[in-house]
Amino acid sequence: MLETREGGCHCGRVRFRAQVDLDLLSQCSCTVCTKKGILHLPVFPADFTLLRGKDALTVYTFETGVAQHPFCSHCGMAAFYVPRSQPDKVTVNARCLDGIDGPSLKPTRFFDGRHWEDAQRNRIAHGGHVTPPGTHGADTLKAILDRALA
Ligand SMILES: [Zn+2]
Repeated sequence: MLETREGGCHCGRVRFRAQVDLDLLSQCSCTVCTKKGILHLPVFPADFTLLRGKDALTVYTFETGVAQHPFCSHCGMAAFYVPRSQPDKVTVNARCLDGIDGPSLKPTRFFDGRHWEDAQRNRIAHGGHVTPPGTHGADTLKAILDRALA
């Protein structure tokens, strides 16, 4: 069920509002998601607003550089990011939503990001969202930052 939720980093410098569906909760086995413990909620950028914290964000990238991993440079929390598998979308870290009970979160979907090419083929074969060719996560993140409220 789609609902409007707010969330943010730990220190409060970074705040967002998004339309999320907690039934779509997924986890990923890739190196960065494993270390961060991210639980993903995919959101279209039109349904995501950065309420504040634009200047607090530092962006981490690795390997292909398509995925954009912003984090609060003060507290280190990664409240959202742009995934390589769907670089025209935003992933909200469900653990960073306000009032969330972490241990009660039960992912219903799994992306085997440790074997990314196979996982991506499999995801699309099962009806997953297909990003228009040539879309780069940096453009998606820039668009979000450009229309951030603060
Ligand atoms: Zn912070």
